[in-house]
Amino acid sequence: MVALGLKWMLSPESPFYVKPRFSAELWSWGWKFYRASTRAHVERSAPLLRDFGLMEEKDLISRFMREIGKQDGGLSAYGEAQVRNALQIGAVDMLIMSEKLRKVRLIMKCEDCGWTKEETTAEDPIEFEKRYGPCPQCQHQAVAIDQETDIVEELSLIAESMGSKVKIVSGNSDEGELFFKAFGGIGAILRFRVG
Ligand SMILES: [Zn+2]
Repeated sequence: MVALGLKWMLSPESPFYVKPRFSAELWSWGWKFYRASTRAHVERSAPLLRDFGLMEEKDLISRFMREIGKQDGGLSAYGEAQVRNALQIGAVDMLIMSEKLRKVRLIMKCEDCGWTKEETTAEDPIEFEKRYGPCPQCQHQAVAIDQETDIVEELSLIAESMGSKVKIVSGNSDEGELFFKAFGGIGAILRFRVG
């Protein structure tokens, strides 16, 4: 697959063709892109990202899968809870997220007593708020959204603060599609194992 990918990139007929003389600029652009990777960036720049990152993406997911295949999951973590925990203790070398991820991280706050809780939802936040039950602390029906962040952006910020790399993968390769469907689009390659 890697050889095939290379052939695609070097063939002017291919949709994945990258003009060689532009590659240094592209890589530099790619680096800046990942450093400031937010959902807005992802959406505006998605076509270019797909064109030049597909091979790298396949390699990365394959590496992630090899770690998962090892005894005790090797140096891998997946799913939001596990990855978030690993990120917070600085165990993540590379955070991997699917650009298909459509979730928000909310801070729910009781307007009466100040109780707060963080929640993740794939729902429309307005609907989520409407269905949210009474405050568990004061029982009042006063819990509202206090803060709302796209999960890609939120996890990227934690990663950045812990010196973890961030990689956004498309759903355009079989590997990228598998990553989204089987692992919920959130995974990590770890610096060290987390018990
Ligand atoms: Zn309350």
